[in-house]
Amino acid sequence: MKNVLLFIIIFFYSNILSAVEFKGKFEQGSFIIGKLTKGSKVEIDNRKIRLTKDGYFAFGLDRDRKNNVVIKIRENGSIKVIEKKVLKRDYKIQRIDGLPKKQVTPPPEVYERIKKDNILIGKARSIDTSYDYFKDKFINPVDKYIITGVYGSQRILNGKPRRPHYGVDFHAPEGTPVKAMMDGEITLAEKDMYFTGGTIIFDHGHGISTLYMHMKDVNVKVGQKVKQGDIVGTLGKSGRATGPHLDIRLNWFEVKLDPASVIKLK
Ligand SMILES: [Zn+2]
Repeated sequence: MKNVLLFIIIFFYSNILSAVEFKGKFEQGSFIIGKLTKGSKVEIDNRKIRLTKDGYFAFGLDRDRKNNVVIKIRENGSIKVIEKKVLKRDYKIQRIDGLPKKQVTPPPEVYERIKKDNILIGKARSIDTSYDYFKDKFINPVDKYIITGVYGSQRILNGKPRRPHYGVDFHAPEGTPVKAMMDGEITLAEKDMYFTGGTIIFDHGHGISTLYMHMKDVNVKVGQKVKQGDIVGTLGKSGRATGPHLDIRLNWFEVKLDPASVIKLK
């Protein structure tokens, strides 16, 4: 009897302690913030996740995520596992014709350059800092725009199926000032990458980064701290772009998320 009572007490107690809250949809491409009580530890799909001092953590779901999300919480020696279903999305098919041939299928002489670009981008995206800027509300990078591309769409370039589009495209006149969507630190600032042209990566902490591409001017340097709304450069059509637009990306480390899960588009 005594043991049963003890069991019941521990059971209820551990349930109360494991209070976890989520902000964001459990849907493909989504950015999610979790909040735990102080002193807990959390793993998402067996990956150890950094927590802020006040118990916040960030993660996100891949475009094609099918399996449930497994959230393991350790608190005061007890382990609690939560499984969450992931909603599926339908993605558009986007055809772009009239691209220069060398942009669709790069010539062998630029392979080395593309490889170098990819290494730089991969490194910047793998940075894991204790900044907690990701907790705040993101803003749009330009004021006046037309959305010409959305996350997840399957791209067919000059009739050839290519990788899906992971960004949101903001069309605006060339030279339009571009703002930081959130406080952060610049982890990459390149003027001329093969596919992405003028490229900036911002670290917002815990593996959450934003990336801007096709910029005309890049007016920030690696290591520089920026505030939300700071002008970091101008909109352009550098790299693989058919016309002036800003393509923005949202990442949780190597996982590419839908930027529209943190901003409102008109
Ligand atoms: Zn794009």
